[in-house]
Amino acid sequence: MTIQRATVAQINLNAFRHNLGRIRSLLEPQVKIMAVVKADAYGHGAIPCAKAALEAGADWLGVANLEEGVELRYSGIDAPILVMGSIFPDESKNLIQYGLSTSVSDLPFAQELSRQGETQNKTVGVHIKIDTGMGRLGMCPEDLPGFMEQAQKLKNLRVEGIFTHLSSADEAEKDFTLGQLSRLSQAVDSLRTKGMAVPMAHAANSSGILNFPDSHRDMVRPGIALYGTLGLSGESSHPNTLPELRQVMQWKTKILQISKLPKGTPLSYNRQFITDRDSLIATLPVGYGDGLNRSLSNNMDVLVQGQRAPQVGTICMDLCLIDVTDIEGVQCEDEVILFGQQGNATITVDEMAERCDTISYEILCNVGKRVPRIYLD
Ligand SMILES: *Cc1c(COP(=O)(O)O)cnc(C)c1O
Repeated sequence: MTIQRATVAQINLNAFRHNLGRIRSLLEPQVKIMAVVKADAYGHGAIPCAKAALEAGADWLGVANLEEGVELRYSGIDAPILVMGSIFPDESKNLIQYGLSTSVSDLPFAQELSRQGETQNKTVGVHIKIDTGMGRLGMCPEDLPGFMEQAQKLKNLRVEGIFTHLSSADEAEKDFTLGQLSRLSQAVDSLRTKGMAVPMAHAANSSGILNFPDSHRDMVRPGIALYGTLGLSGESSHPNTLPELRQVMQWKTKILQISKLPKGTPLSYNRQFITDRDSLIATLPVGYGDGLNRSLSNNMDVLVQGQRAPQVGTICMDLCLIDVTDIEGVQCEDEVILFGQQGNATITVDEMAERCDTISYEILCNVGKRVPRIYLD
C-alpha cells in the first residue's frame, strides 16, 4: 500500500527545463551554464532537478556544501559539480574521492587540497573565489596574481575557474554591480598581463543573467530563475524581467472538513479571527509544520474552484482554516492551491513571499520535509 498525503508539492520538470532553455536563449552560444541545485534544489529535490538540468543542456551543477555534492554523485551523476561555498580542510579527502570541485580563497587551503590529492593520486579542481563586494567568501582581487604564482606549483591542483558573487544585481541602481564586475575584470586582466593562464571566469546569478549581459563571461550560475520565480522583494526590482519563466512548484492540498459557523464565532488559537457573518469555514491539512509561515495568518489567499479564498485564524502546526462562504458548490476534498495555478487564477510564490515579508527563495526552501514532492515529467 502506498500512503499519499493530500498536501503535496508538485514539481513540473518540463517547466524547469523550459526555464533553462529561456536562460540559454539570453546567452552567447559559448557561455556555459552551471545549474544551481543547492538546498535540495531550492526545495524542489536536488537529484531530479540536477538530472533535468543536465538533460536540458546544463554543463555544470552548483551546490553549497560537500554533502550536497556527494548526494548527487551517489545518484549516479558524473557531470562536473562545484561546491560553491567552500569546505573545511578535513572534508578535502571526501571532496577528492567523489571527484567534486571546490572554491578556494587562500593558499594554505589550496596546498592542503593538493597534498590530499597527492595521497589519492588525483588532481582536484578548484575555482578561485574573488570577493568583489559581498564581504563573504573570497580573496581580495589584488592577491590573485600572487596566489596564482604559488598555485601553479601545486601539482595536484587544477585551477578550473575564477569567480565572484554579485550582491545587488536585482536592484534598479546598477553602479554597485558594475563595480563588482569591473573588479573581477581587473583581477582577470592582472593574470593576463603577467602572462599567466586565465581560467574560465564566472559571476552571474539569475539577476545578473537578466540585467547585466556583461556579467555572463564564460559561465553563468542561475538558481532562482530555473525555478521560475524572480525573487522579487521589497529591496529589489527586476528592470528586465523574463516573463516567459514558468513556476516549477505548485503547493496544493485538499479540504478536510467544512463547518457551518454562525456570525461571531472565534476561530483557531487565541481567537485572532471572529466570523463577521454566518460562514462556511474549511479546514486544510497544512500548517507551519509543513513550512507554511505562521506570519501568513489572516494574511494570505488560497485557490478553491479557481477562485480566491482568504485564510482565516492563526495558522496551526498541522492545520489551517479558510473562509469558503463565497465559493459556490464547495465540497470536502476539493483541491486547494497554496501557490500555483487553478483554472484561470494564479497565486505566485512571490505573492506569498511579499505577504510575509521575505523573498521567494525562502518560501521555496521552507516547504517542509513532511510535504511529499510529486514529479510531473
Ligand atoms: C545561490 C547562488 C547562486 C544562484 O543565485 P540565484 O539568485 O538563485 O540565481 C549563484 N552563485 C552562488 C555562489 C550562489 O551561492
